[in-house]
Amino acid sequence: MLILMRAQAPAEEVDAVCAAVEERGFRPVKLPGEDRVAIGVLGSNPISLRDAIISMPGVVDAVPVSKPFKLVGREFHPEPTVVKIGGVEIGDSLFAVMAGPCSVESEGQLMEAAQAVAEAGGHILRGGAFKPRTSPYAFRGLGEDGLRLLAAARDRFGLPVVTEVMNIEDVDLVSQYADMLQIGARNMQNYGLLEAAGRTMRPILLKRGLSSTIEEWLLSAEYILGQGNSQVVLCERGIRTFETYTRNTLDLSAAPLVRELSHLPVVVDPSHGTGKWSLVTPMAVAALAADAAGLMVEVHPHPDHALSDGAQSLTPHHFAEMMERLRLIADPLGRRI
Ligand code: PEP
Ligand code: MN
Repeated sequence: MLILMRAQAPAEEVDAVCAAVEERGFRPVKLPGEDRVAIGVLGSNPISLRDAIISMPGVVDAVPVSKPFKLVGREFHPEPTVVKIGGVEIGDSLFAVMAGPCSVESEGQLMEAAQAVAEAGGHILRGGAFKPRTSPYAFRGLGEDGLRLLAAARDRFGLPVVTEVMNIEDVDLVSQYADMLQIGARNMQNYGLLEAAGRTMRPILLKRGLSSTIEEWLLSAEYILGQGNSQVVLCERGIRTFETYTRNTLDLSAAPLVRELSHLPVVVDPSHGTGKWSLVTPMAVAALAADAAGLMVEVHPHPDHALSDGAQSLTPHHFAEMMERLRLIADPLGRRI
């Protein structure tokens, strides 16, 4: 439920309504707007609350909210959220490009990739130190050594770092090194992990689950915002369909749709979204045209030797070409790269 206060209602009236909400066992969230405060009420059935507060001083209306997500929705928070990672802002005019290898494999590989990302004008360095792999026998990442290499690459090339955290126990460790914590597709509904990552107050990159609906994805983000952390970027990375020529089916419509539903920025990952490097640039261009907040793409100095996701990784040369193409259309669309 959303309680609308009259314009310029004094703080005492707002506080009295919040207290009344709390007394009845619900959680009030103050939502300051241009000229008035609204109060969001979290709880499964706040309908009964309406009669209790509708005649209180300063209250104009109390309307039930149709969407199950309250903190991530536009209803309570019409202005878009801008997420800051180091000096990079996602959710504004910048088309933010996060790029780097799927996995951190060695110092040489990571530094080469990071240099390519920096030189071509990428904004954030990605790289997995803890890798979720379908097979337990596949390369599962360098762990803390990989995190140290990411921090070294950040220092050398001045790019903030995003990397995945897979377990609640690793949240503190990963946040010592990373500027942004990535929650992978396979963990989108690991609610304990979402809350633990949220509590770090680090920006969070929340990937869409392999078979998750947009509503489930937004409800997962709601767990993070419920910890008081609204620095969340959503990442569309393709979903499972019956198609086999691509690894996943990239649901590009998710970007403009989530923009309507939520104030959180959405970036698009055409690498996991297609599984084929030749499709990455066309879908990256499409993501910019679809008004996504940015991209996440995999870049490897030698994709044919990659320990994970080589087939979908751009070479430094192809990455630079992609950036050039994006620059050509960014300006007419009112975006910067
Ligand atoms: C990744 O970004 O390397 C990754 C494992 O992505 P996802 O969780 O989307 O599969
Ligand atoms: Mn990958």
